[in-house]
Amino acid sequence: MTATIPGTTLTGEMLIAGTAVRGNGQEVRAFDPAAGRPLEPVYQHGDSSHVDAACAAAADAFATYRASTSEQRAQFLETIAANIEAISETLIARTVAESGLPQARITGEVGRTTGQLRLFASVLREGSWNGARIDTAQPDRTPLPRPDLRQRFIPLGPVAVFSASNFPLAFSVAGGDTASALAAGCPVVVKGHDAHPGTSELVARAIADAVVSCGLPAGTFSLLFGSGPDLGIALVTDPRIKAVGFTGSRSGGTALVAAAAARPEPIPVYAEMSSINPVFLLDGALDTRGAELGTAFVASLTMGSGQFCTNPGLVIAVDSPGLTNFVAAASQALTKSPATPMLTPNIARSYASGVESLTKAAELISRGEPGTSETSCHAALFTTDAQSFLASEDLQAEVFGSSSLIVRCADADELRAVAQGIEGQLTATVHADDSDLEEAGKLLPLLELKAGRILFGGWPTGVEVCHAMVHGGPFPATSDSRTTSVGSLAIERYLRPVCYQDVPKSLLPSAVADGNPDHLWRRIDGALSQD
Ligand code: NAP
Repeated sequence: MTATIPGTTLTGEMLIAGTAVRGNGQEVRAFDPAAGRPLEPVYQHGDSSHVDAACAAAADAFATYRASTSEQRAQFLETIAANIEAISETLIARTVAESGLPQARITGEVGRTTGQLRLFASVLREGSWNGARIDTAQPDRTPLPRPDLRQRFIPLGPVAVFSASNFPLAFSVAGGDTASALAAGCPVVVKGHDAHPGTSELVARAIADAVVSCGLPAGTFSLLFGSGPDLGIALVTDPRIKAVGFTGSRSGGTALVAAAAARPEPIPVYAEMSSINPVFLLDGALDTRGAELGTAFVASLTMGSGQFCTNPGLVIAVDSPGLTNFVAAASQALTKSPATPMLTPNIARSYASGVESLTKAAELISRGEPGTSETSCHAALFTTDAQSFLASEDLQAEVFGSSSLIVRCADADELRAVAQGIEGQLTATVHADDSDLEEAGKLLPLLELKAGRILFGGWPTGVEVCHAMVHGGPFPATSDSRTTSVGSLAIERYLRPVCYQDVPKSLLPSAVADGNPDHLWRRIDGALSQD
């Protein structure tokens, strides 16, 4: 059965190297969490035969795709962005229905997705991603001559991307993982998320159309649907896949890391998983604006039902009248916050069970308004003391959704002990006044070891897509703390360096050729040069 929506038609099929293919497994329908009803059409999971077809096509495409120029790939990414914009009305309507997220948020996410694609187009044209280095030959060096050595980055090969549930566009089919892998020169096979199959199909068609209009091989892109433990593991263990991008749960991410490591040829998995994003409120800031911070904190906590990997799930402060003001204002704001739909019934159930386990382990301060549907997020705020927090794994576990825990410390030493005791995080936030700078200076080196991004002021939920962003961090925030899944540095995940020693000049790739035909900035004998 097909469902017609203005401007395009959803068929319920996967897209393997440009060909629409119906799955043969479990039937899946998207669910509108705001309206509480399933959506047409019916999708069907694929199996290992579909993984095989997509990976074979991706491996076939790799030689041609990696030989495309930076300019060709830049135009490809820009064409995908334009194709997404051309269907934006239909796409936004479908994504809102599948996610229950507000239209303004999804409209913003379309812009973020197309902006990411264009960012990587600009990275390709700028050229430093090539990492070109030349150490010129020193034939007369004693005691041994130095050969001619040239280095550049090349793409790893076909990449598997797992779509996230909580960003149906920006971390999904044409999201940051796909954009950075395609920019690097890697064909991509996406496992779409069952929470938003229609969005996935629409975006996949926008990419497949761009593949055709840019004259690229069909296997450059495929979209599959299927179960994680079956199709997902088959994808990660297919020998033709050379790297994996993932955003989701700790259990899902660690399962993929284990599967990739157990392959005869292990491959890197860039999994962005679990983070509770500690917010440190220092004494001076609490003293001057405790209540104001409390209200602003709840706005960040409840945005999008708290379904952000950067949701502020942990607040840490020394007990004081300022903290009491913060708690009172936060509690009051939370009590008035309406119940909002979560992305899927499963995520709502997992949120409810996380809140239940916190209710047993910590003291409940307040809850938001209760909801009536099975997907309602009924926000929750808890408190505990530092020693109990440090002794309990349950208190440190991520509860995905609007739930946060305030940890009361006896003094600044205890606050720093909490900073040292937490697991790896995507973000750490500090609220500090001028009077707090000495304490903040002691905290900063501790936080560098724990988080990928450290904010002074503000709240962690907004993640700018730019060159300096790090959306990463030590485990369990990610499986590889050396990189980021947001921002232009993300391209490096899918590249590796190759050194060319005494390779005949006529065979050298243009990035490291004499005369610098690509006009790149290159490190020549240690110094950056555009010669
Ligand atoms: P998820 O369960 O980790 O699923 C993400 C993807 O990984 C899905 O395609 C899933 O396949 C696959 N997968 C999961 N477990 C797997 C396994 N053992 N082996 C192979 N593949 C596996 O995440 P979700 O569906 O987005 O949400 C569930 C929970 O994840 C949330 O309640 C929340 O706790 C957490 N989450 C965290 C973040 C974050 O950024 N920190 C973001 C989103 C979700 P299936 O389709 O078969 O499930």
